[in-house]
Amino acid sequence: MQYLWPAVDGAELSYISRPPSQDWAERTPRVICLLGSTGSIGASALKVVEAHPKLFQIHALAGARNVALLAEQAMRFRPPWIGVLDGAAADALRGYKLGYAPRIVAGPDGYAQLAGLPELSTVLSAQSGAAGLRATLEAARAGKVVCLANKESLVLAGEYIRSLCARTGAVILPVDSEHNAIFQALAGRSAGHVRRILLTASGGPFRDWQREALAAVTPEQALRHPNWSMGTKITIDSATLMNKGLEVIEACQLYGLPLERVEVILHPQSLVHSLVEFVDGSLMAQLGTPDMRMPIGHCLAWPRCLDLGVAPLDLLRSGSLTFEAPDEDNFPCLSLARRALRHGKGMPVALNAGNEVAVELFLAGRIAFLDIPALISDVLDSYESADAPGMPDSGDVNEISKIIEKIDTNARLMAAEWAK
Ligand code: MG
Repeated sequence: MQYLWPAVDGAELSYISRPPSQDWAERTPRVICLLGSTGSIGASALKVVEAHPKLFQIHALAGARNVALLAEQAMRFRPPWIGVLDGAAADALRGYKLGYAPRIVAGPDGYAQLAGLPELSTVLSAQSGAAGLRATLEAARAGKVVCLANKESLVLAGEYIRSLCARTGAVILPVDSEHNAIFQALAGRSAGHVRRILLTASGGPFRDWQREALAAVTPEQALRHPNWSMGTKITIDSATLMNKGLEVIEACQLYGLPLERVEVILHPQSLVHSLVEFVDGSLMAQLGTPDMRMPIGHCLAWPRCLDLGVAPLDLLRSGSLTFEAPDEDNFPCLSLARRALRHGKGMPVALNAGNEVAVELFLAGRIAFLDIPALISDVLDSYESADAPGMPDSGDVNEISKIIEKIDTNARLMAAEWAK
């Protein structure tokens, strides 16, 4: 089974949808490093692993602040390696009676070390936000099969990750439900056969709201997503549509398509997870109950297909499926993301940093809901006028990480200043 996927410029790109070897595909158990095990994706991934103990083996778990949950997971899965946020969290973890003696590493260096462990067959990158980049890069540098839930990695360093994967033979499998749907709908066909990708979006809890109502939205309201149960940051991103903006960038990077061929349509029921339109007019969609075990299990087990315990979608009871255009005037985050990708030169890093700070400020009650896009827009304006030198798409991982860190830090300072 060998699927090659061409990049925009026509160069063959083989990092996606191709098992490193037949031997890799057949060998069990899959030895897994799960980065972000205490988050929402991590919890679903562990359910998948637990349901198929012969197929999967947890070799490393990493979390951030939730040491109690990490300790509980460690006792259940007994991984020889555990990663935590810092020295204090490592001490706290040692305070638990785990019943065995795992090796504990801490911080970004520790996470990166776990991602590159030689025993691994698979790394599931599910940390939240820009903090997930470093370990994703390390996994790609080490030539791993990377099940990627951390979309920010591709937003911050998409071009670089593509070239890195081409160099090392690393493979990216998309866990993000929309991109996983596209992966399944493509079924190995090449970009030349694709007219466009249609990314579906639920529209979040405020889909039909007018500007006056949006101005008064509280964090509690924004945290109530109608269809998906997810972490805090991504739930707010879904309410502003920035999540879909980041996903447009993610799709362009994953599938080697230009912006004009990736469109967003609202689909409030979240049952069609995305579609691909082929040049012959055929439209392929992937549907299913909104349950992250499906895309996670699809990637972890790929190219196998497993019973994951997901409730089947009963189309006779699911009601109507509806589609509509997004309201880009009231939800400008979508066009901000497109602007950042079109401009390139590191602007997606500024976009993401501005957004992460804006979401924190909103949750802390320091800015209003509509200030989120306003803040990000101002961060992009300043980035553009500063005429930043931008980002090379080659070079070593440390060099690229430093450049990204610098753009990220500057944009965060700018964003924090905005709220004063
Ligand atoms: Mg998604």
